[in-house]
Amino acid sequence: MSIKHKAQALAITCIDFRFCKMIEEDLAKRHLNGNCDRVAWPGTSKDYDNVLQTAKLSLKLHNPDELYIYEHEDCGAYGQDNSEKTHRQNATKLANSLQEIRPTLEVTTLIATFKGIKPL
Ligand SMILES: [Zn+2]
Repeated sequence: MSIKHKAQALAITCIDFRFCKMIEEDLAKRHLNGNCDRVAWPGTSKDYDNVLQTAKLSLKLHNPDELYIYEHEDCGAYGQDNSEKTHRQNATKLANSLQEIRPTLEVTTLIATFKGIKPL
């Protein structure tokens, strides 16, 4: 029997190593290191179906109260259309689907830039 274990948050990021340190620091500022589920997937929320499936598993297994989606600029998975608008549309679509499942989920969408992390 496994003991019931709850995560404070779920954090979804791209795999891109250039932004890992920045995101780790941001999570630390939010006191989330060590108590959040992590999903790293190329393009963050761009691959909607796969990321949704993985995120749903986090909700089911670890019941997080908060969701953080970290998009980032210059994402190779996005190719030509790397506009903030497109990142925002994809992040919002993913967040909305997860909030349908868990209406109390507190959502924060962010974009990592080479100058720092800002709200998306
Ligand atoms: Zn990326």
